[in-house]
Amino acid sequence: MVYSSCFMSEAKEKVESAQNAFTAEFVRFVDLNLNGSDLADAEALMRELGELKIRHTGKKSALAESKKLIGKVAPEERGEFGQYVQSVEKEIVSQIETVETALTAFISNAKIELERLDVTIPGRRPRTGHLHPITILRQKIEDIFVSMGYAIEDDREIETDYYNFDALNIPEDHPARESQDTFYTTEGFALRSQTSTVQIRAMERRGVPIRIIAPGKVFRRDTPDMTHVPMFHQIEGLCVDKGITMAHLKGTVTEWLKRLFGEDTVTRFRPSYFPFTEPSAEFDFSCFKCGGTGTVGGLQEAVGSGQNTSGSIVDVDQPTANSQQPTGERCRPCKGSGWIELGGCGMVHPNVLKACSVDPQVYSGFAFGFGLERMAAMLFNIDDIRHMFENDVRFLEQFR
Ligand SMILES: [Zn+2]
Repeated sequence: MVYSSCFMSEAKEKVESAQNAFTAEFVRFVDLNLNGSDLADAEALMRELGELKIRHTGKKSALAESKKLIGKVAPEERGEFGQYVQSVEKEIVSQIETVETALTAFISNAKIELERLDVTIPGRRPRTGHLHPITILRQKIEDIFVSMGYAIEDDREIETDYYNFDALNIPEDHPARESQDTFYTTEGFALRSQTSTVQIRAMERRGVPIRIIAPGKVFRRDTPDMTHVPMFHQIEGLCVDKGITMAHLKGTVTEWLKRLFGEDTVTRFRPSYFPFTEPSAEFDFSCFKCGGTGTVGGLQEAVGSGQNTSGSIVDVDQPTANSQQPTGERCRPCKGSGWIELGGCGMVHPNVLKACSVDPQVYSGFAFGFGLERMAAMLFNIDDIRHMFENDVRFLEQFR
């Protein structure tokens, strides 16, 4: 079958119309200006161009259809027509490729710009934590006692009645045993109401002589208010050896308070009663804020230098001792008294030693205990001890 030249011109028209259709659609890519475009714009253009390329050069495109006509044109014109179709195709592909190259370069640059690391921007430092005020104080006190030859003991927080009360010589009918004061868990068990339980456990485990302090949590059924919380921290001290006397107790308490609050600190012991010590005393120290004067910003007679020295075993020169001008503001930590009441102490009761299989005829010892919260509140000027356990970062951040 031979085709006429008439067919050749028809075929050429088809190619021309395919080229025109391409040109009409491609016009928006001619002289493409990417100024002001971002990565997303360029990627959208790239997708559009890809679709356009398939439409005009793909297998189902008008151009592909035209190429099929090459074999159908008369042989003498086949060469010319073939060259024509190829030149049109080459032109179309070349135009598309030019735009493709420009878009690819733009997208690649835009991605690099996005991911570029600016080493001049300051880094984001991870937030470092810091210690809780109770821990800060506890560690200070632990350091003092370790330097005085004491070991640090810890023990369980849920105790049996035996360790919580019986071994500590607390009688059956003592109010501390009542359920409104103690958190009982199951029958015979309770959250420990004092760290004195550690005295018993430590003596049983280590035997005597012994020198320990036991910092830890204790639990009492108190309604939370500015000065009470149902869970707080105590530090218990215990020293048992041959020939230990009340003088050792006073010397030890006085020494650690001086190391914590300064060389000028005066200590006072007042007779008291605890089931697990005999004799028992409460110990106070001269106020760290006013130096025992009871006032801030004025001069008043300091405690420890006048009539209040009965229990003090130290004789410290108070710079304000001779002045009696009651001026200045009332001191807050000591409420104007010049003294801060801290804790209880005494000589370990013989019954407690016996409960730990220690012969009270041979050994004697002293024990003392005090709370950390009240002390931390005074030292850090905290008006409400509940703040310490509310975990409000704005509060805790102040104690870096
Ligand atoms: Zn004071």
